[in-house]
Amino acid sequence: MSTLTSVSGFPRIGQNRELKKIIEGYWKGANDLAAVKTTAAELRAKHWKLQQAAGIDLIPSNDFSYFDQLLDTAILLNVIPKRYERLAFENQEDTLFAMARGYQGEKGDVTALPMKKWFTTNYHYLVPEVEPGEEIKLNSTKPFDEFNEAKALGVLTKPVLIGPYTFLKLARGTNAQKLEYDKGLVNAVAAVYAEVLTKFNELGAEWLQLDEPYLVLDKEPGDVELFKALYTKILTAKAGVKVLLNTYFGHIADVYETVNLLGFDGIGLDLNEGREENLEAVAKYGVASNTTIFAGVINGRNIWRNNYATSLGLVDALKQVTPNVAVSTASSLLHVPFSTEGETGIPAEDLKHFAFAVEKLGELKEVAVLADATEDEKKASEALAANQALFDGTRVAADPAVAERVNGLTADDYVRQPAREERQKLQREALGLPLLPTTTIGSFPQTKEVRAERAKFRKGEITKEAYDEFIKAQIDACIKHQEEIGLDVLVHGEFERNDMVEYFGQNLNGFLFTKNAWVQSYGTRCVKPPIVWGDVSRAKPITVAWSAYAQSRTSHVMKGMLTGPVTILNWSWPREDITHEEQTKQLALAIRDEVLDLEAAGIKVIQIDEAALREKLPLRKSDWHVKYLDWAVPAFRLVHSAVKPTTQIHTHMCYSEFNDIIRDIDAMDADVISFEASRGDLVVLDAIHDAHFETEAGPGVYDIHSPRIPSEKEIEDRIYEILDKMDVNKVWINPDCGLKTRGNAETWPSLEHLVAAAKAVRAKL
Ligand code: GLN
Ligand code: ZN
Repeated sequence: MSTLTSVSGFPRIGQNRELKKIIEGYWKGANDLAAVKTTAAELRAKHWKLQQAAGIDLIPSNDFSYFDQLLDTAILLNVIPKRYERLAFENQEDTLFAMARGYQGEKGDVTALPMKKWFTTNYHYLVPEVEPGEEIKLNSTKPFDEFNEAKALGVLTKPVLIGPYTFLKLARGTNAQKLEYDKGLVNAVAAVYAEVLTKFNELGAEWLQLDEPYLVLDKEPGDVELFKALYTKILTAKAGVKVLLNTYFGHIADVYETVNLLGFDGIGLDLNEGREENLEAVAKYGVASNTTIFAGVINGRNIWRNNYATSLGLVDALKQVTPNVAVSTASSLLHVPFSTEGETGIPAEDLKHFAFAVEKLGELKEVAVLADATEDEKKASEALAANQALFDGTRVAADPAVAERVNGLTADDYVRQPAREERQKLQREALGLPLLPTTTIGSFPQTKEVRAERAKFRKGEITKEAYDEFIKAQIDACIKHQEEIGLDVLVHGEFERNDMVEYFGQNLNGFLFTKNAWVQSYGTRCVKPPIVWGDVSRAKPITVAWSAYAQSRTSHVMKGMLTGPVTILNWSWPREDITHEEQTKQLALAIRDEVLDLEAAGIKVIQIDEAALREKLPLRKSDWHVKYLDWAVPAFRLVHSAVKPTTQIHTHMCYSEFNDIIRDIDAMDADVISFEASRGDLVVLDAIHDAHFETEAGPGVYDIHSPRIPSEKEIEDRIYEILDKMDVNKVWINPDCGLKTRGNAETWPSLEHLVAAAKAVRAKL
């Protein structure tokens, strides 16, 4: 029998983001729900047919979603908080959108479910909320409908669901509390999955894929028992349909033995991110005789061509243990763009090194065919030869100057002098700031007008001079307004930037940009990361002219904002031929040049944003330091270690969940950090207190993700909460993130309240 091919999931937003456009149209009232359904069905059909044409055996269904597949799973299980049900929409879709985005209208006023990052990706899921006494039951026909829809088109699909273990581990109780996995809940959830299995058996499905990525995380007490309890119950309903237990984003070595004994028909293993551990576990515990290992060899998280020789080696290694090996994508292809077709801006010579979702289908098939080939057939294979050629030659001419700089680094380059405590004293004098200094994170509202001017400039409709004049006028007005309301450390507003990563990438050597390589980030929102193609260095000063201009317009301290090396890498497609550590070092040196030029231009406060530092923290604790923090934190220090003692280095992070790495954050050796710390989330303040955190800190005093204007009193209360836990000499007062996505109407009153609150508290100190 020939080697089976399986795709874990396919992008659903559409080659040209058709789903985004039609859903946003529906939200705005430009089209009706029927139009959304039509487009959705067309996309599904197109995606299934593409996979069928590529010769894929196990084509996923139910990987489609209007917003998020975990939200779909919650709805499937009837995990719908009462406040959404009370809105009493006629269509299930409207309830879904209310849960995803909140609802404000004639039917009521509810906020959305919280959103979180899906493991180490930049995809966000909605956190299911299980209310006490919730009646768990099969509540939707979506998986069955989509299966039937495909069947009618002549495609027998493999339905995909997020498994019950991952669902329960990611769900929360009311008020975001930890969920108690009592027997009733566990049995009820298992019963629904058993019912789903029975139903698919009746419908004639051959395989059902249950995704359990949460299995790749460290286990808490009770986790393995929970997993066993769920699946022992579910698998009794198995009958004819085969169950593929699919894992990704890491290894399951710690539970492989258990999983192998449960009698799954297939076990999906990630051979990209969990390679060594997964292979060792399989070798150690073997594979049950009726189980097929789905070898996740095609990377679903990066866009480079697969190395067939490597993949074939992995399949061979598994075949030493069992003859039953299928090949698969290592994770869903949701996290890569649709197709390289149409990327005419990238020379064909370069483009051939990339495989997006569609191209990965071809790779998967070719690997499967080669896995069945004899040695002679392999020798004669053009596909294999062409693939080998991609990896044999040098893809990109190395930049010897970059290598030389990196090799020349010494331990001293990572250490700023003098020690922080001493610097903080000097800076206070040099900058002449009051206690509880006020500032913002850098960006001010990017109004329609700003975006329209940038679009005109890009299209060549206005000259560079005209565009620059326009930006200068924006900066002038923004500075004047900040002075009027009395902020202490001003910013220029970042009006010239489209995006905090792309803007820097465009001004660095070594990056490539795509036209249409969008990836879903959350709901209808997509991102288009740049590609790290070669060695990175700074082509020319990037922000210096804007910051210097802004400083020339005011006697206040002007802060310059840069994106940090770890964040640039984490929000780009990284190279696979050199390590992340190496790439981050190159980026750090490039940003370091910018820091020193800003300083030379008279900028005394420089903020280096590391919004995405936490995002790529490895999923297993034992990997945190060795695989990540041990180089990510030094990379940040490398960026700023050469500035004068009086130059104040700030950083910003977009989340507050860093109490577990608080010492590492302190070790970045910034002078000041601002971060998100929405109300009720005081854990991080305790952590700052307990860890004797040395960095001065501005825990955001209001939430910029909402258009609400906080009152002066609210902010004052918040400041007192902060002062309860922190030394007043170390506290900064700022919003919790950049103001780019907000409107001017709410931004300025909010900031006025912020300044007034800081002044009021100062006066009482
Ligand atoms: N300086 C950036 C801004 O203000 C930071 C944004 C971010 O951290 N996401 O927009
Ligand atoms: Zn932020």
